[in-house]
Amino acid sequence: MTYVFPPAPVVSLPIAGSEQLFPVRRIYCVGRNYADHAIEMGHDPSKEAPFFFQKNPDNLRSDGQFPYPSQSSDVHHEVELVVALHRGGRDITPEQALSHVFGYAIGLDMTRRDLQGEAKKAGRPWEVGKAFEASAPCGPISLAEQVGHLAEGPISLQVNGQLRQQGNLNQLIWKTADMLAYLSGYFELAPGDLIFTGTPAGVGPVQRGDVLLAQIEGLGHLGCQVV
Ligand code: MN
Repeated sequence: MTYVFPPAPVVSLPIAGSEQLFPVRRIYCVGRNYADHAIEMGHDPSKEAPFFFQKNPDNLRSDGQFPYPSQSSDVHHEVELVVALHRGGRDITPEQALSHVFGYAIGLDMTRRDLQGEAKKAGRPWEVGKAFEASAPCGPISLAEQVGHLAEGPISLQVNGQLRQQGNLNQLIWKTADMLAYLSGYFELAPGDLIFTGTPAGVGPVQRGDVLLAQIEGLGHLGCQVV
């Protein structure tokens, strides 16, 4: 059996302190998971169940560069805690959920906000706003057995040395265990899945030449230049 053309390479992320790579299967993203960000986007955070959208695995970028995408003049940064799974399943209970977590990383859910806004208004899907090339810069995965299960601590983003986003992981509306349990009721999760868990308030536009510095306590930092 041969393929008619070479299959796409396996997308992977580096693992902190390891020569091995983490092979990525799917990327889920949680929308509006910090109250102050839900409010800044015009929503009432107390009234919503979690909701999800997806990016493509090959939208990941781990080389510290974010090429400014086509078709947008309002591209926003969203700093997020990323959860990486080494075990899957359906209908996972909140009590079991954290045993499915391999580790955590710092990610950026880069967003064409103008196109996302048009899609929202028209009741259309979000792919053009969310799932474009290089839309998911992500740092190396730190093992949960080394850094613990991150439930609190500062999360922030600076642009050119200026603080733009600031929050604390303890402000997540849907905590990691409950969010994974909920997600696994809709999708069969599997090893290699990543979940971007949502962003705190302060999202805003980036320009070519900007230097982004994302930080989460316990995970170090992720630097990214807009090119
Ligand atoms: Mn996001």
